[in-house]
Amino acid sequence: MKKANLLRSAIVALGALGIAGTAQAQDIYTMADELNAQLEAAGKDYRVAMAETITDGDSNEVGTTILFRNLGNRQLAADFVPGDPRRVWGGPGTGISFAVDNINLTADLAGTTELSEIRAAMATWENERCSTLPLVDFGNTGIDVGLVQRQFGFGGTGGIAADVQHAGFLPPNFFLRLGSANILGVTFTFVWVSGGAPTDVDNNGKTDTAFREIYYNDGFTWEVDPNDVPGDGRFDLQTVALHEAGHALSQAHFGTGRINNQTGRIQLSPQAVMNAGYIFGQQTLLGTDTAGHCSNWASWPNN
Ligand SMILES: [Zn+2]
Repeated sequence: MKKANLLRSAIVALGALGIAGTAQAQDIYTMADELNAQLEAAGKDYRVAMAETITDGDSNEVGTTILFRNLGNRQLAADFVPGDPRRVWGGPGTGISFAVDNINLTADLAGTTELSEIRAAMATWENERCSTLPLVDFGNTGIDVGLVQRQFGFGGTGGIAADVQHAGFLPPNFFLRLGSANILGVTFTFVWVSGGAPTDVDNNGKTDTAFREIYYNDGFTWEVDPNDVPGDGRFDLQTVALHEAGHALSQAHFGTGRINNQTGRIQLSPQAVMNAGYIFGQQTLLGTDTAGHCSNWASWPNN
Protein backbone atom coordinates (compact mmCIF):
# COMPACT_ATOMS: atom_id res chain seq x y z
CA MET A 1 0.00 0.00 0.00
CA LYS A 2 1.31 3.40 -0.93
CA LYS A 3 1.88 5.96 1.78
CA ALA A 4 -0.84 8.12 0.31
CA ASN A 5 -3.30 5.26 0.58
CA LEU A 6 -2.37 4.69 4.19
CA LEU A 7 -3.16 8.32 4.94
CA ARG A 8 -6.38 7.99 3.08
CA SER A 9 -7.35 4.91 5.10
CA ALA A 10 -6.63 6.76 8.32
CA ILE A 11 -8.82 9.64 7.24
CA VAL A 12 -11.65 7.34 6.25
CA ALA A 13 -11.42 5.52 9.57
CA LEU A 14 -11.43 8.76 11.52
CA GLY A 15 -14.36 10.07 9.55
CA ALA A 16 -16.35 6.91 10.07
CA LEU A 17 -15.73 7.00 13.81
CA GLY A 18 -16.85 10.59 14.03
CA ILE A 19 -20.19 10.17 12.34
CA ALA A 20 -23.02 9.89 14.80
CA GLY A 21 -25.53 7.33 13.66
CA THR A 22 -28.84 8.99 12.90
CA ALA A 23 -32.03 7.08 12.46
CA GLN A 24 -32.70 6.61 8.78
CA ALA A 25 -36.12 6.18 7.33
CA GLN A 26 -36.60 2.70 5.93
CA ASP A 27 -37.63 4.41 2.71
CA ILE A 28 -34.12 4.96 1.49
CA TYR A 29 -33.13 1.30 1.80
CA THR A 30 -36.30 0.18 0.08
CA MET A 31 -35.69 2.72 -2.68
CA ALA A 32 -32.13 1.49 -3.18
CA ASP A 33 -33.23 -2.15 -3.28
CA GLU A 34 -35.94 -1.39 -5.81
CA LEU A 35 -33.67 0.75 -7.95
CA ASN A 36 -30.97 -1.92 -7.96
CA ALA A 37 -33.50 -4.62 -8.84
CA GLN A 38 -34.66 -2.51 -11.76
CA LEU A 39 -31.11 -1.87 -12.92
CA GLU A 40 -30.41 -5.60 -12.77
CA ALA A 41 -33.59 -6.40 -14.68
CA ALA A 42 -32.58 -3.85 -17.32
CA GLY A 43 -29.20 -5.55 -17.71
CA LYS A 44 -27.27 -2.61 -16.28
CA ASP A 45 -23.97 -3.38 -14.59
CA TYR A 46 -24.07 -0.56 -12.05
CA ARG A 47 -25.84 -0.29 -8.70
CA VAL A 48 -26.39 2.41 -6.12
CA ALA A 49 -24.03 1.61 -3.25
CA MET A 50 -24.00 4.48 -0.80
CA ALA A 51 -25.31 7.93 0.07
CA GLU A 52 -23.53 10.62 2.03
CA THR A 53 -25.50 13.46 3.56
CA ILE A 54 -24.58 16.84 5.04
CA THR A 55 -26.94 18.48 7.51
CA ASP A 56 -27.65 21.95 8.83
CA GLY A 57 -25.29 22.17 11.82
CA ASP A 58 -27.85 24.27 13.68
CA SER A 59 -30.13 21.24 13.76
CA ASN A 60 -27.67 19.51 16.08
CA GLU A 61 -27.89 16.58 13.70
CA VAL A 62 -24.77 15.33 11.96
CA GLY A 63 -24.85 14.04 8.40
CA THR A 64 -24.08 10.42 7.79
CA THR A 65 -22.98 7.78 5.34
CA ILE A 66 -25.55 5.20 4.35
CA LEU A 67 -24.39 1.90 2.89
CA PHE A 68 -27.03 0.08 0.89
CA ARG A 69 -27.71 -3.62 1.13
CA ASN A 70 -27.24 -6.57 -1.14
CA LEU A 71 -23.92 -5.61 -2.68
CA GLY A 72 -21.76 -7.70 -0.39
CA ASN A 73 -19.79 -4.51 -0.07
CA ARG A 74 -17.94 -4.03 3.19
CA GLN A 75 -15.73 -1.32 1.77
CA LEU A 76 -16.67 2.25 2.43
CA ALA A 77 -14.34 3.55 -0.22
CA ALA A 78 -15.12 3.66 -3.90
CA ASP A 79 -13.25 5.53 -6.58
CA PHE A 80 -13.01 5.99 -10.32
CA VAL A 81 -10.76 3.83 -12.48
CA PRO A 82 -8.62 5.97 -14.83
CA GLY A 83 -9.85 5.78 -18.41
CA ASP A 84 -12.49 3.18 -17.46
CA PRO A 85 -14.13 2.16 -20.76
CA ARG A 86 -17.32 1.22 -18.89
CA ARG A 87 -17.88 4.90 -18.15
CA VAL A 88 -19.21 5.86 -21.57
CA TRP A 89 -20.24 9.20 -19.97
CA GLY A 90 -16.68 9.75 -18.78
CA GLY A 91 -14.30 12.54 -19.64
CA PRO A 92 -11.81 12.14 -22.52
CA GLY A 93 -8.66 10.19 -21.68
CA THR A 94 -8.28 10.00 -17.94
CA GLY A 95 -10.46 13.03 -17.26
CA ILE A 96 -13.40 13.03 -14.90
CA SER A 97 -16.46 14.68 -16.41
CA PHE A 98 -19.18 16.63 -14.68
CA ALA A 99 -22.44 18.23 -15.71
CA VAL A 100 -24.92 20.51 -13.98
CA ASP A 101 -28.69 19.99 -14.11
CA ASN A 102 -30.20 23.28 -15.26
CA ILE A 103 -33.79 22.03 -14.99
CA ASN A 104 -34.23 21.48 -11.21
CA LEU A 105 -33.30 25.02 -10.19
CA THR A 106 -33.87 26.95 -6.97
CA ALA A 107 -35.78 30.23 -6.93
CA ASP A 108 -33.41 31.58 -4.29
CA LEU A 109 -30.63 32.59 -6.65
CA ALA A 110 -30.97 34.83 -9.66
CA GLY A 111 -30.34 33.73 -13.23
CA THR A 112 -27.53 31.25 -13.69
CA THR A 113 -25.85 32.06 -10.38
CA GLU A 114 -26.40 28.59 -8.95
CA LEU A 115 -24.79 26.96 -11.98
CA SER A 116 -21.72 29.18 -11.69
CA GLU A 117 -21.45 28.64 -7.93
CA ILE A 118 -21.44 24.85 -8.45
CA ARG A 119 -18.80 25.21 -11.17
CA ALA A 120 -16.69 27.39 -8.87
CA ALA A 121 -16.76 24.59 -6.31
CA MET A 122 -15.58 22.06 -8.90
CA ALA A 123 -12.77 24.43 -9.91
CA THR A 124 -11.60 24.72 -6.31
CA TRP A 125 -10.96 20.97 -6.16
CA GLU A 126 -9.39 20.94 -9.62
CA ASN A 127 -7.02 23.73 -8.64
CA GLU A 128 -5.42 21.62 -5.91
CA ARG A 129 -1.87 21.48 -7.13
CA CYS A 130 -1.05 17.99 -5.86
CA SER A 131 -3.32 16.41 -8.43
CA THR A 132 -3.22 16.36 -12.18
CA LEU A 133 -6.86 15.47 -12.29
CA PRO A 134 -8.52 17.01 -15.33
CA LEU A 135 -12.14 17.85 -14.55
CA VAL A 136 -14.02 18.19 -17.80
CA ASP A 137 -17.16 20.33 -17.81
CA PHE A 138 -19.78 18.75 -20.05
CA GLY A 139 -21.99 21.81 -19.55
CA ASN A 140 -25.58 22.03 -18.48
CA THR A 141 -27.54 18.82 -18.85
CA GLY A 142 -30.49 20.41 -20.64
CA ILE A 143 -32.59 17.53 -19.33
CA ASP A 144 -33.71 16.57 -15.84
CA VAL A 145 -31.07 14.00 -14.83
CA GLY A 146 -31.18 11.76 -11.78
CA LEU A 147 -31.86 8.07 -11.20
CA VAL A 148 -32.56 8.38 -7.49
CA GLN A 149 -35.03 11.24 -7.85
CA ARG A 150 -36.90 9.26 -10.48
CA GLN A 151 -37.02 6.25 -8.19
CA PHE A 152 -38.59 8.36 -5.45
CA GLY A 153 -41.11 9.87 -7.84
CA PHE A 154 -39.55 13.33 -8.11
CA GLY A 155 -39.29 13.44 -11.88
CA GLY A 156 -36.06 12.94 -13.71
CA THR A 157 -35.20 11.06 -16.85
CA GLY A 158 -32.80 8.60 -15.30
CA GLY A 159 -30.22 9.88 -17.75
CA ILE A 160 -26.51 9.82 -16.91
CA ALA A 161 -24.83 12.93 -18.27
CA ALA A 162 -21.35 12.64 -16.76
CA ASP A 163 -19.16 10.92 -14.17
CA VAL A 164 -20.40 13.48 -11.67
CA GLN A 165 -23.84 14.95 -12.11
CA HIS A 166 -25.06 17.79 -9.99
CA ALA A 167 -28.68 16.68 -10.35
CA GLY A 168 -30.31 19.86 -9.11
CA PHE A 169 -32.55 21.11 -6.32
CA LEU A 170 -35.39 18.96 -5.00
CA PRO A 171 -38.18 19.67 -2.50
CA PRO A 172 -37.78 18.86 1.21
CA ASN A 173 -39.94 15.75 0.94
CA PHE A 174 -37.23 14.05 -1.09
CA PHE A 175 -34.78 14.60 1.77
CA LEU A 176 -37.31 13.53 4.39
CA ARG A 177 -37.42 10.20 2.61
CA LEU A 178 -33.64 9.99 2.86
CA GLY A 179 -34.07 10.21 6.61
CA SER A 180 -34.12 13.87 7.67
CA ALA A 181 -35.50 17.27 6.76
CA ASN A 182 -32.19 18.71 7.96
CA ILE A 183 -30.21 17.32 5.03
CA LEU A 184 -28.80 20.15 2.90
CA GLY A 185 -27.28 17.98 0.24
CA VAL A 186 -26.55 14.38 -0.64
CA THR A 187 -24.19 12.48 -2.93
CA PHE A 188 -25.11 9.02 -4.20
CA THR A 189 -22.34 6.70 -5.38
CA PHE A 190 -23.09 4.11 -8.04
CA VAL A 191 -20.55 1.32 -8.49
CA TRP A 192 -19.85 -1.25 -11.15
CA VAL A 193 -20.86 -4.84 -10.49
CA SER A 194 -20.06 -8.12 -12.14
CA GLY A 195 -22.03 -11.21 -11.26
CA GLY A 196 -23.78 -9.13 -8.61
CA ALA A 197 -20.59 -8.15 -6.77
CA PRO A 198 -18.77 -4.82 -6.91
CA THR A 199 -15.69 -4.83 -9.11
CA ASP A 200 -12.16 -3.64 -8.39
CA VAL A 201 -10.55 -4.01 -11.81
CA ASP A 202 -7.53 -1.88 -10.90
CA ASN A 203 -6.92 -3.88 -7.71
CA ASN A 204 -6.49 -0.83 -5.51
CA GLY A 205 -8.69 -2.17 -2.74
CA LYS A 206 -11.54 0.17 -3.63
CA THR A 207 -14.79 -0.51 -5.38
CA ASP A 208 -14.95 1.00 -8.87
CA THR A 209 -17.22 4.02 -9.17
CA ALA A 210 -19.58 4.19 -12.13
CA PHE A 211 -20.94 7.70 -11.55
CA ARG A 212 -22.21 9.96 -8.79
CA GLU A 213 -25.36 12.03 -8.32
CA ILE A 214 -25.63 15.13 -6.14
CA TYR A 215 -28.86 16.75 -4.96
CA TYR A 216 -29.52 19.97 -3.04
CA ASN A 217 -32.46 20.60 -0.69
CA ASP A 218 -34.67 23.43 -1.96
CA GLY A 219 -36.40 23.54 1.43
CA PHE A 220 -33.48 25.68 2.60
CA THR A 221 -32.78 29.26 1.57
CA TRP A 222 -29.66 29.39 -0.59
CA GLU A 223 -27.41 32.39 -0.98
CA VAL A 224 -23.99 33.47 -2.14
CA ASP A 225 -22.08 34.42 1.00
CA PRO A 226 -18.56 33.12 1.58
CA ASN A 227 -18.72 34.62 5.08
CA ASP A 228 -22.07 33.10 6.00
CA VAL A 229 -22.59 32.82 9.75
CA PRO A 230 -24.65 30.28 11.72
CA GLY A 231 -28.24 30.88 12.61
CA ASP A 232 -29.35 33.26 9.86
CA GLY A 233 -31.44 30.63 8.09
CA ARG A 234 -29.51 30.96 4.83
CA PHE A 235 -26.85 28.70 3.41
CA ASP A 236 -23.95 29.42 1.08
CA LEU A 237 -24.45 27.20 -1.95
CA GLN A 238 -20.80 27.10 -2.96
CA THR A 239 -19.84 25.77 0.48
CA VAL A 240 -22.28 22.87 0.19
CA ALA A 241 -21.38 22.26 -3.46
CA LEU A 242 -17.70 22.12 -2.45
CA HIS A 243 -18.57 19.49 0.17
CA GLU A 244 -20.64 17.41 -2.27
CA ALA A 245 -17.97 17.73 -4.95
CA GLY A 246 -15.54 16.32 -2.40
CA HIS A 247 -17.72 13.21 -2.14
CA ALA A 248 -18.01 13.15 -5.92
CA LEU A 249 -14.21 12.99 -6.02
CA SER A 250 -14.21 10.07 -3.57
CA GLN A 251 -13.62 11.85 -0.26
CA ALA A 252 -15.34 10.61 2.88
CA HIS A 253 -16.59 12.69 5.81
CA PHE A 254 -14.02 13.99 8.23
CA GLY A 255 -13.98 15.18 11.83
CA THR A 256 -16.01 14.57 14.95
CA GLY A 257 -19.06 16.40 16.21
CA ARG A 258 -19.90 17.37 19.78
CA ILE A 259 -22.30 19.78 21.42
CA ASN A 260 -20.76 23.07 22.51
CA ASN A 261 -22.07 23.63 26.04
CA GLN A 262 -22.02 27.40 25.70
CA THR A 263 -23.83 27.76 22.39
CA GLY A 264 -25.83 24.56 22.58
CA ARG A 265 -24.82 24.01 18.98
CA ILE A 266 -22.95 21.17 17.42
CA GLN A 267 -19.27 21.80 16.90
CA LEU A 268 -17.21 19.89 14.35
CA SER A 269 -13.50 19.46 14.70
CA PRO A 270 -11.11 19.66 13.15
CA GLN A 271 -12.81 22.10 10.82
CA ALA A 272 -13.03 20.83 7.29
CA VAL A 273 -15.13 21.24 4.18
CA MET A 274 -15.69 17.51 4.56
CA ASN A 275 -17.27 17.86 8.03
CA ALA A 276 -20.68 16.17 7.94
CA GLY A 277 -22.48 19.32 9.10
CA TYR A 278 -22.67 22.88 7.77
CA ILE A 279 -21.77 25.54 10.34
CA PHE A 280 -20.63 28.54 8.25
CA GLY A 281 -19.51 29.55 4.77
CA GLN A 282 -16.27 27.86 3.71
CA GLN A 283 -15.41 28.21 0.04
CA THR A 284 -11.76 27.23 0.35
CA LEU A 285 -10.26 23.90 1.29
CA LEU A 286 -8.72 23.30 4.69
CA GLY A 287 -5.77 21.10 5.59
CA THR A 288 -7.48 17.76 5.94
CA ASP A 289 -9.54 18.39 2.80
CA THR A 290 -6.39 18.86 0.78
CA ALA A 291 -4.69 15.88 2.40
CA GLY A 292 -7.64 13.63 1.65
CA HIS A 293 -7.89 14.87 -1.92
CA CYS A 294 -4.18 14.49 -2.57
CA SER A 295 -4.05 10.98 -1.16
CA ASN A 296 -6.80 10.06 -3.61
CA TRP A 297 -5.62 11.87 -6.68
CA ALA A 298 -1.91 12.75 -6.51
CA SER A 299 -0.93 9.58 -8.34
CA TRP A 300 -3.80 9.70 -10.83
CA PRO A 301 -3.92 8.20 -13.42
CA ASN A 302 -1.22 5.81 -12.24
CA ASN A 303 -2.87 4.48 -9.12
ZN1 LIG B 1 -21.19 14.78 3.20
